[in-house]
Amino acid sequence: MSRLRARFGTSAALAAALLAPGAGGVHALRVFTGLAREPGAAAPSVVLRSFVSGGRGFLLLVDPHTLETRALPAGAVSVERRSWSEVRRAIADSPYGRALAEAERHGVPLQDAGLTHLRPPAPGVDLTVDLCPSRLPLDRRLFTALVEELGRYQRPVPVAVALTGAWMREHPDDLAWLLSLVRDGELAATWVDHSFHHRSSATLPIRENFLLEPGTDLASEVLQTEAAMLAAGITPSAFFRFPGLVSSPALFARVVAFGLVPVGSDAWLAKNEWPRDGSIVLVHANGNEPLGVRRFLQLLRDQREAIRAGSWQLFDLRESVAGSEAPR
Ligand SMILES: [Zn+2]
Repeated sequence: MSRLRARFGTSAALAAALLAPGAGGVHALRVFTGLAREPGAAAPSVVLRSFVSGGRGFLLLVDPHTLETRALPAGAVSVERRSWSEVRRAIADSPYGRALAEAERHGVPLQDAGLTHLRPPAPGVDLTVDLCPSRLPLDRRLFTALVEELGRYQRPVPVAVALTGAWMREHPDDLAWLLSLVRDGELAATWVDHSFHHRSSATLPIRENFLLEPGTDLASEVLQTEAAMLAAGITPSAFFRFPGLVSSPALFARVVAFGLVPVGSDAWLAKNEWPRDGSIVLVHANGNEPLGVRRFLQLLRDQREAIRAGSWQLFDLRESVAGSEAPR
């Protein structure tokens, strides 16, 4: 992906890529499932998508042991096309397969379905930051604090960022700034799909709200966001966060069938949920929830001594999930 990433060094180029879908060079993003074997690799990777960039075919792959994703030219791997249910059977005993199954065991609640808590190897939490559509600028102080306060002890600082396509389109300067922190090795971001439009209604009941709103085109919400990420040089992860943390069992199953592990939260700080070790912490850095950001910054101050002593840290969501789903 470094080649794709290198094309967008400026926010102007990023804005152009995001404003004109396809023009950024990424189009025809589709669900394409199978197993890919790379020369020298011990185990196959899972193919989730195919897409075209700069006139060349690419595949989006996930490593079932690390949950890391990569985009590779289609010619770089030999691919066996398999149905999603065949892929699920083939990877059932891998951390990725177990994470999908574990998420499915928590797929029923209307709110906060999916993984909400992980088994950490040491004290600490996973931080997830949602960027839902917003007219306000990015709350940069959250990321600045991560770099300045944790970066001395953990570099890059792991953070999961849940992106909406609408936010990316409206905030190219903020996105470019965020990507510069990743490029400079300050942050290790896990980019989570949070739908494209993130529709929500102040009047509809929860069970008809967010992605449950009648008329929602789920495939386009999932895939357009991934295409926007790829156009911006971002590799989408194999995680999904439901807008509003709201889903039905049927919607949940459809998202899992895209190969995505839904991630909820047991510590939405602005809703007075307090983190424990292994919590998946949720804050919004889209300017709409300064309270959550303030509380996270306070958490960093409270943990300052432990951070300095190396006894409290942020975890990488991919590693946490892969580790949590290790055989018991
Ligand atoms: Zn959201």
